[in-house]
Amino acid sequence: MDHIFIENLEVFANHGIYEEEASLGQKFIISARLYLDVAPAAKDDDISRSVNYADVCADIDRWMKDNRCRLIETVADRLAKKLLKELAAVREAEVTVKKPWAPVGLPLECVSITVTRKWHTAYLSVGSNMGDKEKYIRGGIDFLKGNDSVRILDVSPLIQTAPYGNVDQDDFLNGAVKLETLLTPHELLDLCHEAENAAKRVRKEHWGPRTLDLDILLYDSLVMDDADLTIPHPDMTNREFVLQPLSRIAPHAFHPVCRMTASQLLGKLLGRNGVEEH
Ligand code: AMP
Repeated sequence: MDHIFIENLEVFANHGIYEEEASLGQKFIISARLYLDVAPAAKDDDISRSVNYADVCADIDRWMKDNRCRLIETVADRLAKKLLKELAAVREAEVTVKKPWAPVGLPLECVSITVTRKWHTAYLSVGSNMGDKEKYIRGGIDFLKGNDSVRILDVSPLIQTAPYGNVDQDDFLNGAVKLETLLTPHELLDLCHEAENAAKRVRKEHWGPRTLDLDILLYDSLVMDDADLTIPHPDMTNREFVLQPLSRIAPHAFHPVCRMTASQLLGKLLGRNGVEEH
């Protein structure tokens, strides 16, 4: 992808672990590689369709002076995320923070940290089968929206479905959400749990009634499986109440293990060759 490269911007600021670093300050050298499609700006020769690098440099300088972090790891992480949140066209940012006066007591050119952060695309399933189900679901989505590292891109229509597992409970309302996020998969899972807790969900029985259930279905084309998190969600391929809403908003969303789209998975589950794509 195209990128704009800001190379070796010098800033005097007060980050560092040692008291003298915080009180006296020192020189930092920042580089930022901002990935975006510059074709629209190039076509119209119009800076408003690109990123104004002079503004970005001024912004980095101000942020470096207004904030204090102990670690340059934190400086690089926060700067990269700040740039991604504020520059709508930028999809990915690589930020390097160099410290030429690092207090190591030996001659060295500099120490540096480089981080790469990007907007990831994820799909969630949402469900509720207690109380005002739609209110719980909308409230859960609003909770996610309240995090500035999450942008909700689409929400499917909600469908009513019979309960699975323990069937002696109320019908479910189910839907799917498309979002982009700067959060890691585990951070996104934690946020989902916070949203569930805010809906006063109590985890009693595995398939018991719930005010709000949020599951991560897909996260880019990631495949992972650890003690807390499996992506793609292991049950998504055999649940019509997941695949149906997902297919409504993202028929082409790709399951990286089955190597099939959401629409193809739904068609397979329903015993058809394919379903209409909306
Ligand atoms: P649930 O009852 O659906 O909320 O799921 C219970 C547990 O499943 C959670 O606490 C997660 O640790 C785990 N889990 C594993 N994979 C996923 C996933 N893809 N999305 C959400 N929860 C998951």
